[in-house]
Amino acid sequence: MEGVARKPIEANFTPGGREVQRGLILHVQEGEGSLFERFSAPGTRSSAHFWVSQAGEIEQYVSIHDRAWTQRAGNADWASIETSGFTGKPLTPAQLDAVARVYTWGARVHAWPLEVTNSPQGRGLGTHSMGGAAWGGHACPGPQRAGQRDAIMERVQQSLRT
Ligand SMILES: [Zn+2]
Repeated sequence: MEGVARKPIEANFTPGGREVQRGLILHVQEGEGSLFERFSAPGTRSSAHFWVSQAGEIEQYVSIHDRAWTQRAGNADWASIETSGFTGKPLTPAQLDAVARVYTWGARVHAWPLEVTNSPQGRGLGTHSMGGAAWGGHACPGPQRAGQRDAIMERVQQSLRT
């Protein structure tokens, strides 16, 4: 994606296999600060395509054409975005804007639909938890951040109109 800090990692992802583009999966970091070092470490065995700081800075670690290791059975069909912060805390307005920027790009370039979805067979802006056990059985990103997806989609719709 153009206009973001590209920091490609050299481990913890699988090249190719992303012909299906269902949309973007929202994650919560349960921590703060760039995930580049962690996702670069060979033993980590996890990664994400994007990360967004509290201030709305965006880093991209994995090409959209490669599979990041975030949501297991969902890695092939879905892109992923980690958001700095914790389950009990909402995304900041800057984070809402930043996730919307990534989604707007995906809508333009990869035809991600302007929808919120709660199904692994659906398309749109989803959550890690919607994949259940097949996606690792995580509660991520929690009801508060999951509930902010409509606000993100409103921003996407606004930016696509201008
Ligand atoms: Zn997650």
